[in-house]
Amino acid sequence: MRRIDFFDTTLRDGEQSAGINLNTAEKLEIARQLERLGAAVIEAGFPASSPGDFEAVQRIATTVRNSTVTGLARAVKSDIDTSWDALKGAEQPHLHVFLATSPIHMEYKLKKTPDQVVDIAVEAVKYARSKFPLVQWSAEDAFRSDPAFLVRILNEVIAAGATTVNIPDTVGYASPQEYGALFRFLKENVRGIDRVKLSAHCHDDLGMAVANSIAAIENGADQVEGTINGIGERAGNAALEEIAVALHIRKDFYNLETGIRLNEIKRTSELVSRLTGVIIQPNKAVVGKNAFAHESGIHQDGMLKNPETYEIITPELIGATKEPLALGKHSGRAAFKDRAITMGFTLSDDQLNEVFAEFKELADKKKEITEDDLFVLFTRQQLEKTETPIYDLESIQVQYGTNNVPTATVTSTNPEGETVSVATTGAGSVEAIFNTLELLVKGDVHILDYQVSSIGKGRDALGQAVVNLNFNGTQLTGRGIAQDVLEASAKAYLNAINRQLVRQSLETQKELAVETVN
Ligand SMILES: [Zn+2]
Repeated sequence: MRRIDFFDTTLRDGEQSAGINLNTAEKLEIARQLERLGAAVIEAGFPASSPGDFEAVQRIATTVRNSTVTGLARAVKSDIDTSWDALKGAEQPHLHVFLATSPIHMEYKLKKTPDQVVDIAVEAVKYARSKFPLVQWSAEDAFRSDPAFLVRILNEVIAAGATTVNIPDTVGYASPQEYGALFRFLKENVRGIDRVKLSAHCHDDLGMAVANSIAAIENGADQVEGTINGIGERAGNAALEEIAVALHIRKDFYNLETGIRLNEIKRTSELVSRLTGVIIQPNKAVVGKNAFAHESGIHQDGMLKNPETYEIITPELIGATKEPLALGKHSGRAAFKDRAITMGFTLSDDQLNEVFAEFKELADKKKEITEDDLFVLFTRQQLEKTETPIYDLESIQVQYGTNNVPTATVTSTNPEGETVSVATTGAGSVEAIFNTLELLVKGDVHILDYQVSSIGKGRDALGQAVVNLNFNGTQLTGRGIAQDVLEASAKAYLNAINRQLVRQSLETQKELAVETVN
């Protein structure tokens, strides 16, 4: 059976979209899950873009073993060298080097002639191959490039040693028929195209990213690139989980293999949504909250008589089975540990003790502990307890009444290591909290977006807040979870600020270390 490789770029194309900022531990957690999902290639970042990206790519490259790990590089020597340092520890070091080929990009962005672009691409691929066994070359904005020029440059980069060539629709402009035809044309005209992997990379500006990716597969693509939940620049990338499920459900028509473990989709999707703070629309195909909900009476009646009347995908297929939880207030540590393992978490004994105590505390307040709640507790334990926050929220008190001025009092640690209490007012409770936190945090803060949602169902569900803000010129996203949405909101605000401060202090430490070595 013909096999299609899945190239996941959640951590690169997805992560570079507005307001998403994951730390190394979070990126590593997502990469591990992508490995479990069965992604053939994981694009872990753009090593030359920042020390944070470099570190994350390096950690992922040395941790992940069953997926190929790659990093993005511009067609310049220094980017390739930096990427090599980040990726050389990988099982099979793979580089993704790109250069634009459309007339508008060559003339206005690169300010190069087509001849110069061919030379730069060839030189970059040759240099990359002198280090990396696997080199993917991407023609940025390929779909809006002259097809004859694409053939010429692809002939050259394949001769120079590229092992994969990627034909992106960078701006999401193609229709399925046109994009498919381009793949067929390249298959028929490029020398040596059968010796390399041919890859598709689609954006969703016109809502056609998944359809275009499948059109490319129908016309000879060996690999599709995309992200989990379709996150990414502007309208996002092709949603990989949708492509995987479409190829599986219509196996009768496509007859293809993907290597994707479909029952890991739900967990992957939830993890990416939680850690990026990008909420999934309820009606989204495959992973939306309502993707399997049958509301109308006629549909429900049909489902009762035979589920196949209206159901083409079962929740079980993507691992969404909500088996009833046998865990409650009286559950023991062994059963709890068991559950952590079944859910794919690896926690040390100390971590397990700590999260077990939290579980008991939550079970006192909340009647029913759901799988969603456990997911939150375990992820938090695995990711957030690894570093001490600079502003550590100790307590929060809010006074609100329809006839009073809302007031918030916050007690927290500060960068000097002291515990301080601050209070002020606002037009509403949340504004009072944000105003108070602004007094606490020294710097210029603007709130760009703020969302509150519940985790799971029920009146006692945990509250989740996501705050997108600008702090001293950097756009950041923070998340907070608590039984009360006001506390969750304060935590989300401080989480965003802490991310930036922790990142800055890591970078200063590195600079100091370099100075000491010199
Ligand atoms: Zn892209």
